[in-house]
Amino acid sequence: MIKDGFPAGGDRDIVLVTGANKGIGFEVVRQLAETGQVVLLGARNRKLGETATERLHAEGLDVHLLEIDITDGTSIAVAADRVQRQLGRVDVLINNAGILLEGDFDNAGNEEDVVLPLPSSVSIDIVRRTFSTNTFGAIAMINAFLPLLRKAKAARIVNVSSRLASLSLADRVCRGSDETFLALLAYNSSKAALNAATLQYAIELRESGIRINAADPGHCATDINGHLGDRSPADAARAIVHLAGCDSAGPTGIFYGENGAIDW
Ligand code: NAP
Repeated sequence: MIKDGFPAGGDRDIVLVTGANKGIGFEVVRQLAETGQVVLLGARNRKLGETATERLHAEGLDVHLLEIDITDGTSIAVAADRVQRQLGRVDVLINNAGILLEGDFDNAGNEEDVVLPLPSSVSIDIVRRTFSTNTFGAIAMINAFLPLLRKAKAARIVNVSSRLASLSLADRVCRGSDETFLALLAYNSSKAALNAATLQYAIELRESGIRINAADPGHCATDINGHLGDRSPADAARAIVHLAGCDSAGPTGIFYGENGAIDW
């Protein structure tokens, strides 16, 4: 049975991870809880969130379900109000929830067989829905939780992006480079816009001590890509966990992957 009350954070960091009932977000929650932080496992579906939380409780981890749909303003406001009343601050916000609506990943045996729609054939509805979650949802989360992040001593925001969002990479591919790349109009553009937003916030928050960065978890096997990735979600969680652990002396306004900084 999941209790509705959160424990007092005390000196421990309070971390909120969105879209954490499965995949990379779930592993981020696990790895951060293993270091003794109080972790709020964000999930839009209460049942899926409860199942995920119970799995981590069985491992003895201090994890608490926070129901939150990042495309629903009311859901975000209710969640922020609950955290404000029960915990009073958030030290780390990890905008992990994301969707990929293009490409028939589920029916392909391997990455080379994935049927990708040409950018010009992706419907505007797909583009809008993708931006609603990957870009606008993350922005709505930052704006709603910034008052709580300002109450922390050295708050951090990590926006989970993708190397496919790198304009430098797309530019090289455009000019003939044969680096691995998938031209996904809605997904790549929504994450590139998230990267751009990351830098705007980094400029605003520079003097506040709040660090905000974008993370590339790297290609890994989860539901989002029909489990075609070659790494595990636990491996993918590492770049995100690294940025979540940076204190006020750490970087802000960077795009970071497992091998270090990535060109925007
Ligand atoms: P996943 O297993 O499909 O997990 C996505 C999570 O986001 C799920 O918990 C999903 O909830 C949640 N979500 C979707 N829309 C939401 C909404 N409106 N409100 C709240 N939660 C929502 O995919 P993943 O691979 O772990 O992806 C996590 C992040 O990593 C995403 O931002 C993705 O773009 C990024 N990423 C992944 C890879 C990769 O290779 N896997 C590579 C680069 C970047 P439900 O279960 O309810 O659908």
